[in-house]
Amino acid sequence: MRLGCIADDLTGASDLALMLAREGLRTIQTIGVPREGLDLSAADAVVVALKSRTIPPQQAIEQSLAAATALRKAGASHVFFKYCSTFDSTDEGNIGPVTEALLAFTGSDFTLACPAFPANGRTIYKGHLFVNGVPLHESSMKDHPLTPMRDSNLVRVLQRQMELSVGLVPYEDVDAGPDALRSAFARERAAGHRVVIVDAVSDTHLRSIGMAAADFPLITGGSGVAMGLPAAYRQDAASAAAPRGASFDAPDGRPIILAGSCSSATQGQVKAAIDAGVPALRLDPMQLSSKDVTAQTALDWLAAQQTNGPVLIYSTSTPDDVQAVQGKLGRMNAGEIVEKTLADIARALPALGFTRIIVAGGETSGAVVNALDVKALTIGPEIDPGVPWTRSLGGVDLALALKSGNFGAPDFFLKAWTMLR
Ligand code: ADP
Repeated sequence: MRLGCIADDLTGASDLALMLAREGLRTIQTIGVPREGLDLSAADAVVVALKSRTIPPQQAIEQSLAAATALRKAGASHVFFKYCSTFDSTDEGNIGPVTEALLAFTGSDFTLACPAFPANGRTIYKGHLFVNGVPLHESSMKDHPLTPMRDSNLVRVLQRQMELSVGLVPYEDVDAGPDALRSAFARERAAGHRVVIVDAVSDTHLRSIGMAAADFPLITGGSGVAMGLPAAYRQDAASAAAPRGASFDAPDGRPIILAGSCSSATQGQVKAAIDAGVPALRLDPMQLSSKDVTAQTALDWLAAQQTNGPVLIYSTSTPDDVQAVQGKLGRMNAGEIVEKTLADIARALPALGFTRIIVAGGETSGAVVNALDVKALTIGPEIDPGVPWTRSLGGVDLALALKSGNFGAPDFFLKAWTMLR
């Protein structure tokens, strides 16, 4: 195995696994640190999905190091730390603290940080992150329930999270190609920086970065920056491309969507599904908190649905509603109440015949997949940029699409099913 990856949430892990598979690496995704005995020998890359984005920094460090240790044991020669393309984090972390810990683990003194993903509208120019052309702090990320992003300057954002010095490799160096980039990395390292934010506004830039950084023991970034790595690695090792196709074998069973994301893309997808007549149940955090509504309420509702088509259970709300709820319940508590309820619902789904499941939301996906006790996933075709169909490996047989809240077209919840055989 060449590349051992650690992702700070589950949907981000799928996004990265998809990118690597599409670029020709045989890729397996594990949920949490891989169990002893899980056969990873057929993989060129393994992506470990953690749920470490918003936990206390020390725990994020411990989990990331445990993952790195397991990956190294399984043969990984390079480590990739994957976070969200909107750099989701708080001033406490966890991108900075985990990067520092992984630098020490890999025995290296320099790495890059690049969340750019132009195919999904995430670009970096002069260190500033843009979301569909809007500075991060003006995008809907400013209202994220757990990691509101209020500063677009990633050098500043990351420096607030770390002791080591953060520098910048600007557009001009990236645009000049891999050799210029290597020189820029050397220049920034000599200037005393230990991590550099790297500009990127196109896939060409990402491929250059992959080429220039392929030898780094540690690379950090979004899935975009992994785009160029397989080609760079292939120069000295042949890899068989993962089979790709427009359709995917899935277990027989009923389809369901669980949406715990409040991101604007998910809001549009929930609305499109409801407008299209998908039976839908909204979970209100206040009613969950008072126990007027429980997971059992939702399961009773599910049992009463006669359709074989998709059904939707969602907590998705507008930023104003989320703020009002958080004012009453607290930010983390509100999130946990919703996540726990969706997890409790998920746990009962296989017994009710639901085996084809879309989950919207990174944290939400982590909670749902843990509840379903899924340990590893194979990667199938891409539904929309960054979101593949996956199938569980071992345990209950499920087709799962784990969607980062802000990913996917408005008709995602409607069209994804057509790819399943
Ligand atoms: P995304 O991928 O969009 O960031 P996540 O699932 O990672 O979505 O995060 C959304 C968080 O918001 C979760 O912790 C979820 O439980 C919480 N949440 C969901 N619905 C609500 C709501 N109506 N009010 C407050 N918090 C909510």
